Amino acid sequence: NKRTKIKALLATEPAGQEVTVMGWVRTFRNNQFIALNDGSTNQNLQVVAALGLLDDETLKRITTGTSLKVVGELVVSQGKGQKSEVKAVSIEVLGDCDSEQYPLQLKNRPSLEYLREIAHLRFRTNTFGAVFRIRHSLAFAIHKFFNDKGFIYLHTPVITASDAEGAGEMFRVTTLPFDNPPRNDDGSINFKEDFFGKSTNLTVSGQLEGELAAMAFSDIYTFGPTFRAENSNTTRHLAEFWMIEPEMAFYDIEDNMNLAEEFIKYLIGYVMSNNREDLVFLAQRLADEEKQLPQDKRSEFGLIEKLIFVQSNAFERITYTEAIDILLNSSHYKKKKFQYEVKWGIDLQSEHERYLVEKHFKKPVIVTGYPAAIKAFYMRMNDDGKTVAAMDILAPGIGEIVGGSQREERYNNLVERMEAMHVPVEEMQWYLDTRRFGSVPHAGFGLGFERMVQFVTGMTNIRDVIPFARTPKNCEF
Ligand code: ATP
Ligand code: MG
Ligand code: MG
Ligand code: MG
Repeated sequence: NKRTKIKALLATEPAGQEVTVMGWVRTFRNNQFIALNDGSTNQNLQVVAALGLLDDETLKRITTGTSLKVVGELVVSQGKGQKSEVKAVSIEVLGDCDSEQYPLQLKNRPSLEYLREIAHLRFRTNTFGAVFRIRHSLAFAIHKFFNDKGFIYLHTPVITASDAEGAGEMFRVTTLPFDNPPRNDDGSINFKEDFFGKSTNLTVSGQLEGELAAMAFSDIYTFGPTFRAENSNTTRHLAEFWMIEPEMAFYDIEDNMNLAEEFIKYLIGYVMSNNREDLVFLAQRLADEEKQLPQDKRSEFGLIEKLIFVQSNAFERITYTEAIDILLNSSHYKKKKFQYEVKWGIDLQSEHERYLVEKHFKKPVIVTGYPAAIKAFYMRMNDDGKTVAAMDILAPGIGEIVGGSQREERYNNLVERMEAMHVPVEEMQWYLDTRRFGSVPHAGFGLGFERMVQFVTGMTNIRDVIPFARTPKNCEF
């Protein structure tokens, strides 16, 4: 197989050399000009078939979507818009495409809603080509960032008995027979028997397991699928999403914030230098879309300006108490524009987060010191006895993108908090052992991978940045 991918081909000097390319037809004009795409880049390769090269039957078979093998010469292009093209010597149809039935045989750009309905074919569009090449690039950059810093990539289990977040959003994993499950005396199903005698669920976070390894390797990170039985239909929640969770021994909340900010900026920088073409495409796409909106709904900056701004400015850092004060003193609040109540003690809702980021500070914001009552049991209690050393990073267009904290490393304080929050202390001795045997201050955070992809690509719906979205009623393939 001497095939060359189109991205590589377009980067070489055309000198009449023989090349073999394979791909799918995007357009076919004048029985002569084929725009061929193989997914290595959004750019199409122009293939020129001299008149007479193809018989009538082959000409009819070449339509949008047909797959081809082309052998030809790479030459300087006569036309505008491309440096080189392939002068075909032979063209072989590998697979026909029924042009009557093919849903992507379209003159106009299909809507994202429509493409979600034909999600099995949407990889073939320029938009999803760009999004998923960037997603790939981000995944690669994540490993590079942590590897360069000497972090160990730790694989945490998908099936687990722990509920790290205590939010009750777990999918059960069960080996119980559906038709005749074991029952308790009162007739209810005995889920304690779930997994060969143990109650289990799909992981909602790898953090607790990650902490065990951080207590030996110092610095670890997980990067894997995470599951939450969210019966919500927002543009930023999935039932199955990927999360990056670094966990660092000898880190306090300050170190944790610094690492998270550096990490986000690194990822943006990586994509800006490695996915320029795809970013420019998505920025243009977004700009075209914004033109349809009324003036006051359009954003001030384009996608790339936004990324450069975020990458080159310090994130704002405020406490939760300050955040509540800002919200209470806002004209937005006075005009009763918030749907949810604002008062000390609430969990910030997406509308509050976005107000702080988009209207008030106009840059990413790190909020620290959340009320203990609304945060998970493992977060370190502050001296005030009311707030914990939590930190959330809020990003423009999205809201919460990172959730993290310094962990409670003091055995007695941790047990006290577990009891107060009804976490089963006896079943979690394995976790408490980290605090009994050489406990150290440590911290970590979770970055939602899809939210990061959303942020970088400017895609507004989280369903459009994961290849196979899992949302309520959406699990066909
Ligand atoms: P939210 O308030 O948006 O529901 P959360 O506070 O429940 O998020 P965490 O438990 O803090 O989420 O998880 C860490 C990160 O994982 C979040 O900051 C977010 O980026 C991401 N995340 C959480 N839930 C989802 C989800 N259902 N789909 C996609 N990403 C998610
Ligand atoms: Mg949530
Ligand atoms: Mg939250
Ligand atoms: Mg959170």
